[in-house]
Amino acid sequence: MFDTLSDRLTAVLQNLRGKGRLSETDIDTTAREIRIALLEADVALPVVRSFIAKVKDRAKGAEVSGALNPAQQVIKIVNEELVAILGGETRRLNLAKTPPTVIMLAGLQGAGKTTLAGKLARYLKNQGHAPLLVACDLQRPNAVTQLQVVAERAGVAVFAPEPGNGVGDPVDVATRGVEEARRSQHDIVVVDTAGRLGVDEELMRQAADIKAAVAADEVLFVVDAMIGQDAVSTAEAFRDGVGFTGVVLTKLDGDARGGAALSVREVTGAPIMFASNGEKLEDFDAFHPDRMASRILG
Ligand code: GDP
Repeated sequence: MFDTLSDRLTAVLQNLRGKGRLSETDIDTTAREIRIALLEADVALPVVRSFIAKVKDRAKGAEVSGALNPAQQVIKIVNEELVAILGGETRRLNLAKTPPTVIMLAGLQGAGKTTLAGKLARYLKNQGHAPLLVACDLQRPNAVTQLQVVAERAGVAVFAPEPGNGVGDPVDVATRGVEEARRSQHDIVVVDTAGRLGVDEELMRQAADIKAAVAADEVLFVVDAMIGQDAVSTAEAFRDGVGFTGVVLTKLDGDARGGAALSVREVTGAPIMFASNGEKLEDFDAFHPDRMASRILG
């Protein structure tokens, strides 16, 4: 039993030192190890297949150069392909030409949206922006209070519906929130929206309505990395029902393997932009494809 993909590859390829080129058998054996490791990392099967096809293709043509032994050569190819599939470069936020930039968060309940809203606000504030959080999760009891708590921790302002007016209409709150940002010179608005335990039509419609009403510059699909392969079907539902411009992976502190990252990126084509890795506001960073590739490779 080998712990990491690079250990596995090194082990199966250790006898090949000095050969000029990898044989078909060597490549097949290697592909099998990669397949097992990726499936164990919860990468969706179609993604595993297309990934292996790419790696095999490149490995076939690869000369085993003097500097790298066959295992190192294959590990280099796997690493490069992982970085490519994860998006290559870190994608930055798309800021509106005329502020405020509107960033909307969407995802299932419990994905970590409200926590993320605080993290993102803190991150943006540290970059010199003046974010305003807008509380549009009016379904979950306490979601508004929770947003106010994270905002206070992050030291940023919140726009929330006035208490005592019933549940309120999230589309209306979002629209008024953006107006408030314009009035009070906030250059970025982060709109927290409601989630459900499972995907449902009403949730999708509400999120799509908010997106249209505020003309969101970025819609970030927030997904718990721990849900593994379910991340793919959830991402597809949000892609079709709402549409999103980027992905945020949360709870990466609990998922050592990162299969969700690979699958969601490959299946939806949307870039992974941020990574959340803990409950504290500072447990957050831009997503770095090369770091995630190293984590998957081990
Ligand atoms: P929402 O329903 O999407 O708004 O999700 P919340 O922001 O309320 O988060 C749900 C739970 O996940 C809370 O207990 C958070 O503290 C926790 N959580 C959020 N992000 C992370 C993370 O990156 N790592 C860990 N370990 N927990 C997180």
